[in-house]
Amino acid sequence: MFDPNCIFCNIVEGEIPSTKVYEDDICLAFRDINPLAPTHVLVIPKTHIESCAELTEEHEVLIGHIFTVIAKIARDLGLDNGFRVVSNAGLEAGQTVPHLHFHILAGRPMSAKMV
Ligand code: 5GP
Ligand code: ZN
Repeated sequence: MFDPNCIFCNIVEGEIPSTKVYEDDICLAFRDINPLAPTHVLVIPKTHIESCAELTEEHEVLIGHIFTVIAKIARDLGLDNGFRVVSNAGLEAGQTVPHLHFHILAGRPMSAKMV
């Protein structure tokens, strides 16, 4: 649920400040502290899940909701020329924060770019 050692859990709790883009009871979206594109937003579930590798059937509604929120954020931020959604899972994917998150990246060409 809440991991006191987790950066993103602490962002959810307001213990670590963030620039919020969207929030509801289920998820939170905020600007990445080290943006890799002109628009770089992270969308996270409020509950602690390590990565998308941990997902099971019980999370299907949650993940559906997150992707609906991603579409809403893209509309609200005017990402009409396109955007990329990325979720890194585990060491070899370069995951640095072990709390499930979806990067939204936009504003530069990224045909072959990996996050
Ligand atoms: P990952 O590499 O795990 O897929 O992505 C983690 C992302 O979280 C990175 O892009 C990193 O810049 C971002 N990040 C790490 N710590 C913080 C923080 O305290 N605040 C914000 N806003 N972003 C963070
Ligand atoms: Zn967490």
